[in-house]
Amino acid sequence: MQLGRFEIPIHKITDIFISHLHGDHYLGLTGLLFSMHLRKRQVDLHLYSPPGLNEIILLQLKYSKSVLNYKIIFHVYNPEEKQVLMEDDVLTVETIPLVHKLACAGFLFEEKEKPRRIDKTKLGSPLLLQHLVILKKGEDIFREDGSVLHRNKDFTLDPTPSYSYAYCSDTAFTEKIVEQIKGVDLLYHEATFMEEEIGKAIETKHSTAKQAAEIARLSGAKKLLLGHFSARYRELEPLLAEAVSIFPSTSLAIEGQTFIPN
Ligand SMILES: [Zn+2]
Repeated sequence: MQLGRFEIPIHKITDIFISHLHGDHYLGLTGLLFSMHLRKRQVDLHLYSPPGLNEIILLQLKYSKSVLNYKIIFHVYNPEEKQVLMEDDVLTVETIPLVHKLACAGFLFEEKEKPRRIDKTKLGSPLLLQHLVILKKGEDIFREDGSVLHRNKDFTLDPTPSYSYAYCSDTAFTEKIVEQIKGVDLLYHEATFMEEEIGKAIETKHSTAKQAAEIARLSGAKKLLLGHFSARYRELEPLLAEAVSIFPSTSLAIEGQTFIPN
């Protein structure tokens, strides 16, 4: 429902990553899967989760006598181990083992290096279509006798930067994740409580806003996003202020908002 509200086209979703099986992290999923079916999706959907979610979904399909018109490909992973879940030409996604009441993993999304960009101001020069393909790979273009016809640097610009994003929810404070997320461009870290509720955070294996900021500081993240706030906080500004006192580049993860690295 929220995806619809923010006009996110669900047919473009190819992969879904579920961190753990507390209801607030997957109960909306069945509705989404059926919406995709009703909209005549045919493309495979990849679903990554700890053990159990595959059984839950298959049981729901079985008892509603439903046959989806697309295939769900289940990828069951062990949240206690770091592992690469998917990799293609542009992206790798790996798990970040977290500390929570249920087995739980965050996800590290890392863009691969992008191709060099053709300098459009040079397009008037005598370039053939096959030259553009070679130039994008960062290579020079040679004549048949082996001499250089076009130098790459004369026709291309550096690639746009590649970014990384770490999603860490739900988790107690753990420095174990710091090494893996070092220098990440954007860190989402849960901040269920404020520091005055540290006892509750320890008991429920969640984090405080201050602890989230501490992880951002230790890992050298460029930007921190706080989320997963306890319903007890009607105002979120105090959580933000607590984190900002330790890590200034912090924002609240408000649903529907987009954060672009700078
Ligand atoms: Zn949880």
